[in-house]
Amino acid sequence: MNKKITGIHHITAIVGDAQENADFYAGVLGLRLTKKTINFDDPGTYHLYFGNTEGEPGTIMTFFPWGNAYRGKIGDGQVGVTAFAVPGSTLGFWKERLRKFGIPFKEQKRFNEEYLSFEDPHGLRLELVERPDGKNSSWNFGGITEETAIKGFAGALLFTANAEKTVELLESVMGLEKVGEEENIIRFRSSAAIGNIVDVMTERQGTGQMGVGTVHHIAWRAEDDEDQLEWKEKIENWRLGVTPVQDRNYFNSIYFREYGDILFEIATDPPGFTIDEPLESLGQDLKLPPQYEQFRKRLSQELPPLQVRNLDER
Ligand code: ZN
Repeated sequence: MNKKITGIHHITAIVGDAQENADFYAGVLGLRLTKKTINFDDPGTYHLYFGNTEGEPGTIMTFFPWGNAYRGKIGDGQVGVTAFAVPGSTLGFWKERLRKFGIPFKEQKRFNEEYLSFEDPHGLRLELVERPDGKNSSWNFGGITEETAIKGFAGALLFTANAEKTVELLESVMGLEKVGEEENIIRFRSSAAIGNIVDVMTERQGTGQMGVGTVHHIAWRAEDDEDQLEWKEKIENWRLGVTPVQDRNYFNSIYFREYGDILFEIATDPPGFTIDEPLESLGQDLKLPPQYEQFRKRLSQELPPLQVRNLDER
C-alpha cells in the first residue's frame, strides 16, 4: 500500500525577543506554552513550544527566539504563511480580539473560506480560519475559552522555488490528495483531523532569507520510529538527502530540503511532551535534555527571564 503522510506535526519559526513571543502566542492567541526548553543545536537560546492543552501533533508552533538576530525575508524556500484553525462562528470574536490588542488584520478569501491575515510582532505571516474539523482545545487562558480557542493548524501556504517538484513530492511521495486549485494556489489535504491542509503557491515570491520573522521548517507526522525509517528510505529513493534520525526528546526527527528549497522534517508522534513533566504543569519549568542537565545553572543565567502573562488583566 502507498504510504501517506497524515498531516503537519509542527512548524518552527525564528523570532525576536522571547517575552514578546510568549506574550503574543500565549497572551494574545491563547495557545498553551507546552514546553520551555533550549535549542539543542544552540543551547544558549530557548526553544519554545506552543499548542493545545496536550501539545498534540498538528497543534504545535515552535520558536527559536533570537533576540539580537537579523530580520529575515519571507520568500521562496519557506512556509510563507501559517494558518490556525478556530471553531465555527468565532471569526467575529477574533476580529474583536485582534482590534483590542491593536493588531492590524486583513480579511481575504481562499477556496471559499474567510481568512483573517495578520503578522506576529516579529513579522511572521499568520492566518485564522474557521474549521469544523478537529477537537476544540480545552485550554482556557485570558479572554479565550474552549469555545473560541485555536484548535491547531489549519494549514500552511508553501512558498517554493520549484512548485512543480514540491507538488510532485507532496502528491506522489508523501501521498497528499490534491483537492483544489485557484489562481496561483494548489490545495492538498491529508487524513488527520487537524493540520491537514497544505497550500502551494505556484507563483515565485522572490528568494527567501532565513532570519527573524521567517519559518525555519515544517515537520510532518510519522506514527512511530518504524514508520519514520520507512519514510527515510522512501525519500532517499526519491534522490533527496535525508539526515540520520535525531533525538529531539519529545519526538525523533529526520530532515531533508526538498527541491523547492523548503526544509522539511518528519517527526514521530510519540513520546510527546509529558515525557519529562506532568500534563498539569507543562511549560512551567525549564526542561533540559540529559546531555545539558550538567549546565543547568549556567544556562538558566544566560537565558532571558520568561513568563506566560495574562494580558487581558493588564
Ligand atoms: Zn522541528
